[in-house]
This record gives sequence, C-alpha cells and structure tokens, in this order.
Amino acid sequence: MQDEFDTIVVGAGPAGSTTAALLAEKGHSVALIEKDKFPRYHVGESLMPFCYFTLERLGLADKMDEIGFTKKFSVQFVTEDGSQSKPFYFFQHYDHPSSTTWQVLRSEFDKMIMDKAISNGAMLKELTKAQSLIEKDGQVTGVNVKDNSGHSYQLHAPMVVDASGRDTFAQNKRKWKKRDPKLNKIALWTYYKGALRDPGLDAGSTTVAYLPGKGWFWYIPLEGDIVSVGIVGEKDYLYREGNDISEIFAREIENNLWIKEHLSCGKQFGKFWSTGEYSYRSEFCAGDGLLLAGDAFAFLDPVFSSGVFLALKSGEMAADAVSNALKTGNFSAGQFESYGRELCHGIESMRALVYAFYDESFSFGDLIKAHPGMRSDLTDCLIGDVFKDFSELFQAVSDFANVPTKLKHGLVA
Ligand SMILES: Cc1cc2nc3c(=O)[nH]c(=O)nc-3n(C[C@H](O)[C@H](O)[C@H](O)COP(=O)(O)OP(=O)(O)OC[C@H]3O[C@@H](n4cnc5c(N)ncnc54)[C@H](O)[C@@H]3O)c2cc1C
Repeated sequence: MQDEFDTIVVGAGPAGSTTAALLAEKGHSVALIEKDKFPRYHVGESLMPFCYFTLERLGLADKMDEIGFTKKFSVQFVTEDGSQSKPFYFFQHYDHPSSTTWQVLRSEFDKMIMDKAISNGAMLKELTKAQSLIEKDGQVTGVNVKDNSGHSYQLHAPMVVDASGRDTFAQNKRKWKKRDPKLNKIALWTYYKGALRDPGLDAGSTTVAYLPGKGWFWYIPLEGDIVSVGIVGEKDYLYREGNDISEIFAREIENNLWIKEHLSCGKQFGKFWSTGEYSYRSEFCAGDGLLLAGDAFAFLDPVFSSGVFLALKSGEMAADAVSNALKTGNFSAGQFESYGRELCHGIESMRALVYAFYDESFSFGDLIKAHPGMRSDLTDCLIGDVFKDFSELFQAVSDFANVPTKLKHGLVA
C-alpha cells in the first residue's frame, strides 16, 4: 500500500476536497483522509455568489444546475414584526453567471467535490481518522491514521493540509484555538416539509428574520419541498426557560410573524440539532509542513452564509500555495505568509459586517440612506467579493456600529 505522498489532506469537506482536487490536477500525489463515509449530512446549505469561481475552476459550475440544486437569486431581511426588506438581488449588482447561486444539500454537494478530487487522481481513504501529526524537529512529516476496522498506520508527506472543519484537528493538537468572544452565539436548527415559499424569483431566497436582542432565524428553501430553519442567538436568551429545542422553536416562532406564517403550513421532521462554540480563528494558519484551510483554520458566525465560500476559496488558495512549496521544496511556515495574510483580510471583511449586524444601533437601511454610495461595496461583501479594500465602507459603518479591530493572529508560526 502506498504510504508516501506529496500532500496529505485531512477532511473531505469543501475545503479539503477542493485542495485535493486542484493539487491532483497539477500532478501532485495526494492522500485525502475522511473519517466519515460520503454522502454524509452537514449543515450549511446556503451558498454565496462568489462560490461560483472556485466551482468553475474545479469544472463543477455546470454540474450544479445538472444536479438541480435550488437556485438562489437573493437574500432578504425580515424585522421582528414580519416586515420584509426589498430582497438584495445579486444580478442587479453584478450581471454575471455567478449572480445566481444555490441552496444545496450538503451531502450531495460535498460528495460532488470529493468525487472530483478522486477523478483528478487523489487517493481517498474514507472511514479513516487522522489521529495525530507525525513530527520531526518541529516539522510535520505525516499523519498517524486509524481506519474503521481499528487498523492504525502512518502516511508520510512533506505537506499536510488540515481541512478537518470544526473538529479543528491541528488547532487542538497545537493548542492554537482562539475564540472570538463577542461572537459567542449558539445555533439550533431543524427541517420542515411543505412550508411556504415566496413566489417567482424569491422562491429560493435566503431569509434572515430577526428575533429580539439581535438573534435571528435562517430560512433556507431546499429541493424536495424542504426548508432548513435555524435560530441563532445568545445561549442565555434561547435556553432561558429550559433546553428542550422543540419547545424553544415553538416559543421563538411566535416572535416573528413572517416565520410564523411561513411555517404554519409546514411540518417539522427529523431531529433538532444544536451547536455552540461559535466563532474562532487559529493563532497560526501554518507551521513547518502544515497548512490550515476552511473551518479548520477559522469559523465565522454564519449570518451571511460565508462558510462554504471561505472553505472553497481557502481550499483553492491552499492548493496554489502548497503546489508552489512542492515546486521549490520549501515547506517552512514562512512560505505560507501571503496565504495567511490574504485569507485573514477576506475573513476580516466578513467579520466586520457580522459585528455590525449584531450591533443594536446598526441597520442596512440606515447605512444606505446615509451613505448611498456604499451600496455597491456592501453588496460586494454580501456576495463574497471580499478580497479588496473596504476601508471606506467600514468608515461609513462606524457611524452606526462598532467596527472591530482586526485580529492580529492567524498568520504563520
Ligand atoms: C449552524 C451552522 C450554520 C451554517 N450555515 C451556513 C450557510 O448557510 N452557508 C454557508 O456557506 N456556511 C454555513 N455554515 C458554515 C459551513 O458549514 C462551513 O463553513 C463549511 O462546512 C466548512 O467546510 P470545511 O470543508 O472547512 O469543513 P467541513 O465541511 O466540516 O468538512 C470537514 C470534514 O473533515 C472530516 N474530519 C474531521 N476530523 C477528521 C479527522 N480527524 N480525520 C479525518 N477526517 C476528519 C469531517 O468528517 C468532515 O467531512 C454553517 C455552520 C454552522 C455551524
């Protein structure tokens, strides 16, 4: 059995499979380690328009329509009394195929990218868990893994990319995790069948509906007449009367008229899910022979559906950075400095917008009324065009909300 590779990628979610697919396409030998068996369930169904560009590079943009994922043309915001903002139609901002994005079943979406990695030549080892990093003089040289029959063995490579998602395999081993204390929310979610869809173009829109104290619902229409519905808020607020999630749902639905009306004809099915430990970023994005991508590097509150986009984009950036390291034979952490800098810049743009969203004194309407010229920059942020200079936008936002200082960490060890 082959146990030497150019790169080992841990985790076959969007970040890991993108890295593996693009590295294999460039002719590098790649082992892709996945603890689960795909297709597997995953939360995070609403995509951002700029996912398109990584999907296009992977040769998968056309496949998205072939599979028939729900088309998403816009995002809209709904106040507590149920009044709806005018939807932000992405095509009004940028007339390009990327302006139509999708709501996806993650089981199918993630498998599609994983299959691409395999067809490009990556070697998948599923039902196989990365247990620990193999290190020599501080340099990562491989991974100790264990398969589902209990067999443990070693895989070796000069580069390991950790894309293990919120399991944060390398961050945990290295004690690099740093929480974002102000974004410490929890999420509760479930699924409904037969709930109301808005007509026409708005049928696949993501709706963010407010709860008192800046909590919010997500309402994401999926294929098969299914809607993903979640609540995000402070733990103390949501669990104030107990921790039965179905009861919390029943209570909070009464707090937003739009949600109440849309769910009135739907039937909840399956389990209620929850997660805490919300936003974090690793102290470092790289060590010698080690690079972090997707949620394994950073996780941001999902109010603007940025997670899959950042996973795809960082997967793409990681593949380019690792390919370069393989060409030069330089696997030191310093080789990945610009990867970390650029990625953190994009994450910071989204993070500042998330902070504004949770600020009691902020509203998109007030911002645009006071600074009409900022509509374009704001929409850029909402579609994922985040790797540019937004200083003017956040100067304008600071009239209404606290703009957080950029986190200093997230660069190389
Ligand atoms: C409540 C909630 C709602 C969200 N909503 C949205 C949304 O609407 N839109 C959006 O874009 N994003 C959303 N997100 C974020 C989104 O789900 C993630 O950002 C995205 O899945 C990250 O992709 P990834 O590839 O980094 O990690 P993942 O998709 O989590 O993939 C990681 C993979 O690594 C595997 N793995 C883990 N540990 C190991 C190990 N030791 N060995 C081998 N394999 C391992 C896992 O099994 C998994 O398959 C949401 C997140 C949460 C928590």
